Amino acid sequence: MPSSSPCPTFYLQSNSNRPQLVVGVVVDQMRPDFISRYWDKFGNGGFKRLINEGFNCKNTQYNYAPTHTGPGHASIYTGTTPSYHGITGNDWFDLVAMDTVNCVSDSKVTSVGTTSTEGNCSPSRLLTTTITDQLRVATHMKAKVISVSLKNRGAILPGGRSGQAYWFDGLTGKFITSSWYRNDLPTWLIEFNDRRWADEYLSKPWNTVFLIKQYTESDPDDNAYEAPFTGEEKPIFPHDLPSLRGTRYDIITDIPFGNTMTKDVALAAILGEKLGDDSITDFLAISFSAVDHIGHQFGIESVEMEDAYIRLDRDLSDLLTFLDNRVGKNKYLFFLTADHGAPSNPIRSKDLKLNTGIISTRNIQDTARYFLKMNYGKAEYFRCRIKEQVYLDEDLIAKTNFHSVK
Ligand SMILES: [Zn+2]
Repeated sequence: MPSSSPCPTFYLQSNSNRPQLVVGVVVDQMRPDFISRYWDKFGNGGFKRLINEGFNCKNTQYNYAPTHTGPGHASIYTGTTPSYHGITGNDWFDLVAMDTVNCVSDSKVTSVGTTSTEGNCSPSRLLTTTITDQLRVATHMKAKVISVSLKNRGAILPGGRSGQAYWFDGLTGKFITSSWYRNDLPTWLIEFNDRRWADEYLSKPWNTVFLIKQYTESDPDDNAYEAPFTGEEKPIFPHDLPSLRGTRYDIITDIPFGNTMTKDVALAAILGEKLGDDSITDFLAISFSAVDHIGHQFGIESVEMEDAYIRLDRDLSDLLTFLDNRVGKNKYLFFLTADHGAPSNPIRSKDLKLNTGIISTRNIQDTARYFLKMNYGKAEYFRCRIKEQVYLDEDLIAKTNFHSVK
């Protein structure tokens, strides 16, 4: 019903007061203490600029578990929890399909830009809209939403159901998409792929930016808590990428140059899609996922991780400088967050006599399974288990008379 009362000032903002571009950055597996830990190694244009010129939200917490990549990205961009947005894990058991599914797998769509099946993905399992969807809806689909990452789920979930998402294909070394979004790659991405950045980045060894003795915020490079790359004897620098890569490109997702390539494709998207060029707010979502793989491979105390953050800091500086020049200072809104963190290696903690321990979810599940069998008969009440999750056979439970079973 029309109202004669004045419109709240919230609705009266003119287009000139709105950012022309929102850039959302997720750093996969970034712990907040990395900012202070590596502070002295950072330049002035990356993390330090964000801290010094922006707001740092410190008292934050997760209100769901597990905090994996899929639920993390979906929660950041939907603003709600897995029970609502539906992304309850990276993988789960689908009780309708009666099969294990990935959070972005979709057999109804096909790859675009590759012959591999890496593009058989979509946001179809996302049950709520994202902030990027809402921006599209609010602008009658005029706002452009582009999302990029090495990981399919890191690109797809932030882009929502109505944006465009592009992710990396380890077979071809190219960024691809799926038929959910479009039937061909945009010209700017074809040109980006044709420059063969992945081949360039894998043509020389990964060595440290600074002398290795300057990596004082990390454990010694050669230690027992890190895992070497397949084909390496020791997890130490330099990592001989030309000999380690094989015929595929997957290893670029495990090294800092994967982040740099993600930054490069983001810059290409800004130019190619003319993001932030007019008064209708656009959205660029970037997920830097190489640091997650580095964390899994070498751990959070490694020289590799420190070097990766020194390089990511430079990539962020490049990105912010590019945005200053292209969109203009104060004309874009930039945020940086993480989908989850990572603990220290528990064996390292144990060796250091810290309070720690390793709890096997498999053992817990086995105990629960044994309890069910001991108390309710020999039937198999577990239908499926995936990582921390257990799915009970609800049909069997409904049919069972628990008063009579032994
Ligand atoms: Zn993650």
